[in-house]
Amino acid sequence: MKQEQTVRSAVECKGVGLHSGAPVHLKILPAPSGSGIVFRRTDLDDFEIEATGRNIARVSYATSLMKKGVLISTTEHLLSAFIGTGIDNAIVELDNLELPILDGSARPFVEMIQRAGIRKQRRARGYMRIRRELELREGKKFIAIYPADSYSVEYTIDFPHPLIGKETLRVELSNGNYLRELAPARTFGFLHEADAMRQQGLIRGASIENAIVLTRDRVMNPPLRYHDEFVRHKVLDLIGDLALVGKQILGNIVADRAGHAMHTALVSRLLRDRSLWEETQLEESRFESNAVHAVAGQPV
Ligand SMILES: [Zn+2]
Repeated sequence: MKQEQTVRSAVECKGVGLHSGAPVHLKILPAPSGSGIVFRRTDLDDFEIEATGRNIARVSYATSLMKKGVLISTTEHLLSAFIGTGIDNAIVELDNLELPILDGSARPFVEMIQRAGIRKQRRARGYMRIRRELELREGKKFIAIYPADSYSVEYTIDFPHPLIGKETLRVELSNGNYLRELAPARTFGFLHEADAMRQQGLIRGASIENAIVLTRDRVMNPPLRYHDEFVRHKVLDLIGDLALVGKQILGNIVADRAGHAMHTALVSRLLRDRSLWEETQLEESRFESNAVHAVAGQPV
């Protein structure tokens, strides 16, 4: 059986929050099987907030968790890295309200996890296997999840910008695809929106070091890491938001111009309606061969 995993040792970093601009230390620690991902505010008497759909707070430009009035902001890139590296259980300590943005991607988190090492635990991993489709629509925004034997995502974005326009990416989350195709993709923003966003208390920690900055017709801080880095980052965000179901998913996600609010709406619906999925375990070898088969039969 595929088993749960945690980090082998503690590992830490420091940085600033993308929206708050607040300095923060972050530490990832091993956790026992069955505990999931738990955030701990060391600046607030070690108050703990579990990374589950129950604790989703306001969601607009980033995903935040809240419990008893205590906030943890911009959780999506680290949670995405945990899914991508197969970490089921960890304690994440931070001494401020927002996770560090680092380089704007999930790569620094992946590298931290690799530095810490990954330890297999005894317990078999429980997957959320989708049994029935679920489709959510809101104007032009769409997100859906369909039954499948592995985890895959097809995401379409459409930004009226000469360097973006309509981009679609389909990716299978297996065999190192996450590390190669998604983890390095950075968040992005438009220079002409920056002032208005700062006035709303957003992007106070943003810089050309931690985001792709777009002017009206070009990238201010080239080079891009992929020609379609923008849609890749959206997939990275989606995976991080869907991590709030608290399990690895076996399903196919289709999203069109969705965002954090629609991603988390899907999480809430899945957690509310137990008839949409079942918990299942996977044979060690079976998942890999399925995944290889799916990639071979379906060009990305
Ligand atoms: Zn993001």
